[in-house]
Amino acid sequence: MATTTSSETSAAAREECDSFMAGLRKRNPGETEFHQAVEDVTESLMPFLLDNPKYQEARILERLTEPDRIIIFRVSWLDDSGRYRVNRGYRVQCNNAIGPYKGGLRFHPSVNLSILKFLAFEQTLKNSLTTLPMGGGKGGANFNPKGKSDNEVMRFCQSFMTELAKHIGKDIDVPAGDIGVGEREIGYLFGHYVRIAHEFTGAMTGKGIPFGGSLIRKEATGYGCVYFVEEMLNRKGDSIQGKSCLVSGSGNVALYTIEKINHLGGKAVTASDSDGFIYDPEGIQDERLEYLMELKSRHRGRVFEYAEKFGCEYFEGKRPWGVPADAAFPSATQNEINEADAQTLVRNGIMVVAEGANMPSESAAVRVFLDARILYAPGKASNAGGVTVSGLEQTQNSLRLSWTRGEVDTKLQAIMKDIHAKCVKYGEEGDWVNYVQGANLGGFVRVADAMLAYGVV
Ligand code: NDP
Repeated sequence: MATTTSSETSAAAREECDSFMAGLRKRNPGETEFHQAVEDVTESLMPFLLDNPKYQEARILERLTEPDRIIIFRVSWLDDSGRYRVNRGYRVQCNNAIGPYKGGLRFHPSVNLSILKFLAFEQTLKNSLTTLPMGGGKGGANFNPKGKSDNEVMRFCQSFMTELAKHIGKDIDVPAGDIGVGEREIGYLFGHYVRIAHEFTGAMTGKGIPFGGSLIRKEATGYGCVYFVEEMLNRKGDSIQGKSCLVSGSGNVALYTIEKINHLGGKAVTASDSDGFIYDPEGIQDERLEYLMELKSRHRGRVFEYAEKFGCEYFEGKRPWGVPADAAFPSATQNEINEADAQTLVRNGIMVVAEGANMPSESAAVRVFLDARILYAPGKASNAGGVTVSGLEQTQNSLRLSWTRGEVDTKLQAIMKDIHAKCVKYGEEGDWVNYVQGANLGGFVRVADAMLAYGVV
């Protein structure tokens, strides 16, 4: 029960937050993405923590930001010319209070401990929001699959899994894909796991359909994000029908976000990759979307080829946030919307920003969205569809059966609706919902209560 006034609470919260963050920065020097993710969560949680001292007394936030363990390992492999290559592999097992560790593997040259710790921390709260029994983890390597042959990717994946296999298992830690880890990589990784673990269990998700994968898994993050936006708009008596949408990225999340926007009658007008973005005012639909899917997922092409084929504009080295539209779905990577981008979006009348990627908005950009009181959904809520269907894949594997597309999609929609309801419950402020507050609190309380019940662990 609150015993202080709101201005006293906010001054005390600021002080507590600063002191907590000073300690975290000192313990984790140089880990800027990790600091950013923790600070964003701490700022929104602190007033609640001050009102509920049992969490502070048990130092839940300190424990939640100290991963259970971090595994770092050498990954040696031979390239096609027979040269030795060495990369660094990681698995951050953040918290397993509510279920086995769960979270993707990222293969990208930028991967480092800071990025994986931020992702594992966010994943812990996200997985809690889904209501499924999943703890939080994340892993990967500073390996770039781009430009490598299939054989090179296979040799890398096998070497990576030779070590990772010692630390995962269906009841221990269940990795999935993320940036640079798609169907091909999961096949090589899981195939090697089955071989060396000498058992076939659901120790990974995102698997191919012939070997235990779930229907709708590859679509799930994008579909779930659009379902979430539909919930946000429905609550305001509106819908995505007829809305123009900016999408960044052209990978797994972006492509299925575009597909679902089309299904619900919206129009996606942009897509991007790390070289630039395309603007197609006609809408990326029908044979245009088919072309983009084929280009990106099978031929590993670049988005400028779409612009050449359909005669639309391509903006090299730019991001799509300057294009006026109703909704934005950042779906490429972290920190792809800065403060100036956010101001441009708001100035151009954006109604909704829903994060398909993890932490695509810098902290200052988030503040711009919150100050403008637009509908802003942080990734831990709006992109939870992927891990939700991963959780459903685990269930199907345990039951040794496969649900139909319709069954999985219905469950995905129901869970996205529940996540939305939880955000509203914890984040409602008059007629506006602070989804950042809602998602952080909604995710935190379940994990924190489990940790309280466990005592000193
Ligand atoms: P993919 O590897 O399939 O696609 C990533 C896309 O983002 C590509 O278009 C890529 O372009 C672009 N991209 C990657 N890094 C950068 C960068 N540094 N600058 C600009 N563009 C970049 O990954 P996913 O679609 O799976 O993941 C996208 C985001 O969604 C990530 O933040 C991920 O953590 C998050 N996410 C993914 C989930 C999933 O189920 N896959 C679940 C929840 C969140 P290029 O080809 O040029 O590299």
